[in-house]
Amino acid sequence: MLATSSISPLTQKYLQLEEQYGAHNYHPLPVVLSKGSGVFVWDVDDKRYFDFLSGYSAVNQGHCHPKIIAAFIEQAQKLTLTSRAFHSDLLGEYAQYITNYFGYDKVLPMNTGVEAVETALKLARRWGYEVKGIEANKAKIIVCAQNFHGRTLNVVSFSTDPSSRINFGPFMPGYEVVEYNNIAALQAALQDKNVAGFLVEPIQGEAGVVVPDEGYLSKAAAMCKEANVLFIADEIQTGLARTGKMLACDYENVHPDILILGKALAGGVMPVSAVLADDEIMLTIKPGEHGSTYGGNPLACKVAMVSLQVLKDEHMAENAAVQGEYLRNQLTALNHPNISLVRGKGLLNAIVIKHDNKEAAWDLCLQMKEYGLLAKPTHGDKIRFAPPLIITKEQVDESVDIINRSLAHLV
Ligand code: PLP
Repeated sequence: MLATSSISPLTQKYLQLEEQYGAHNYHPLPVVLSKGSGVFVWDVDDKRYFDFLSGYSAVNQGHCHPKIIAAFIEQAQKLTLTSRAFHSDLLGEYAQYITNYFGYDKVLPMNTGVEAVETALKLARRWGYEVKGIEANKAKIIVCAQNFHGRTLNVVSFSTDPSSRINFGPFMPGYEVVEYNNIAALQAALQDKNVAGFLVEPIQGEAGVVVPDEGYLSKAAAMCKEANVLFIADEIQTGLARTGKMLACDYENVHPDILILGKALAGGVMPVSAVLADDEIMLTIKPGEHGSTYGGNPLACKVAMVSLQVLKDEHMAENAAVQGEYLRNQLTALNHPNISLVRGKGLLNAIVIKHDNKEAAWDLCLQMKEYGLLAKPTHGDKIRFAPPLIITKEQVDESVDIINRSLAHLV
């Protein structure tokens, strides 16, 4: 039997405020957080939890990383926003830094992840017309079933998740959906001469950490090259050391034509996203044709540089690889009848819950919360385990013990 989820009067007060005055577009666990440090967060009653979601992988560097926060405070006291009507003394430095870091000619800075996805799609269409020579208004982008790239009307136009789409139509044309991890399906779709790009998550995070077969990304990239189609990697969730390499594409030595980054690009401190590409693609967009008031602001530039630097300096990709494998091994070793699958790469992992009760994954998350670990189900039966990348082996042991004790309540 599940232990009753304890909700203190103070917690209840905050839940009520959100319920009454906030839109009901999320279904959070009933926990109200007020403090974070490293792999831990604390609620308003000062109870400590392991954070196994890391803000959907925005907090890879750990909560309130001291170097990121110090840079944030220092820059916030100097200059935060110029808009792109003027230059700042940090945009050029940041552009040089991030393009060298990932090996591209240029960067286009945005804020949220979905804005960067929109930017990449606009770039792909532009390139399709102006470089590839696709006839006006005929460009197509191939996307994958079960994708998640964000919530704008354009991006939900090619979602296959009904909850993202119902009663939001009419939708944007120009997308073709193929099965994920299916090379033959992609090959068939690439026959169409109007295809400008293939947009793909190297691992499908929101779908429940679906890892494609080894070789899928490299074959897909090679086929795109052959067909003169841009390979566009959405590494917003998989990137920045989360999967045990700086980019998940690095596992297959794939250098995407367009790389999309977000989330941990600012260590969970503020929304910062980026699109990277070479000149042939990036220079198809001219002044005034795309932009964002906050995109590339000096505060974001500073925070992003430090967030990227600490990933390298503190060897977070290496730690994610080692602790991720250890975590999966420990979870598998539980050999628990209610866990039908443990999967993932680095510290982007999920378990699939097998249980007659459809609410079992949610109930398990409530129970883990009681024992001091926060995780959230996705698509009903999957629970993502994605702690900050600074987690130690001892902390993994402690976390697995919490998960195991919580599982004991599922009957
Ligand atoms: N792309 C991927 C792969 C994501 O996981 C997400 C968010 O979870 C997004 C895009 C959208 O990012 P944002 O919520 O910052 O708009």
